[in-house]
Amino acid sequence: MRFAFVSGDPALDLTATVLSRRADPLDTLTTPADLEQWVAECAELPDHVTAGATDLASALALREALYRLALDRLRSRPFHSGSLAIVNDTAAGPVPTLRLSDDGLRVSGDCRAVLARLARRGITVLADRGACLKECGRPDCTRLYLDRSRGSRRTWCGMDECGNRVKAAAYRARRRARATAAD
Ligand SMILES: [Zn+2]
Repeated sequence: MRFAFVSGDPALDLTATVLSRRADPLDTLTTPADLEQWVAECAELPDHVTAGATDLASALALREALYRLALDRLRSRPFHSGSLAIVNDTAAGPVPTLRLSDDGLRVSGDCRAVLARLARRGITVLADRGACLKECGRPDCTRLYLDRSRGSRRTWCGMDECGNRVKAAAYRARRRARATAAD
């Protein structure tokens, strides 16, 4: 797996394909092949979806609109109207088809259907006032996620590196403080 799916929702996972958004942004979806790979790795989307340059542009526009709306939610401010239009328009498109058989579930559809599905998932999350949307506690991460833990006490996005790095830094700081106190 090249991409991480730890946000608790595929629409949020899509927004997290830009790493470290504030300090040193790194976009991991730069070619149509990147998008195809991301879709293939996302559990609830169709396999073998092909994407072209236009599909990539639509996906990136949707991604940035979803990110902007999620930030608006996080900061309790009105939704950005241009981003609302992108997400709502994308959600109105055809969605992937689901087929059940003895072999299990088969999801199929093209890239347009994938984006419609992601937009709908994003709308469901953003419309849910009870959803606990958070930004990862490690400042360099900037990943958004849904905290479904009991008491909503989760602090990190779910990437091992985030909680562990912060805990390691805190441990080193405590050890330094103890060493200084001992001197
Ligand atoms: Zn994180």
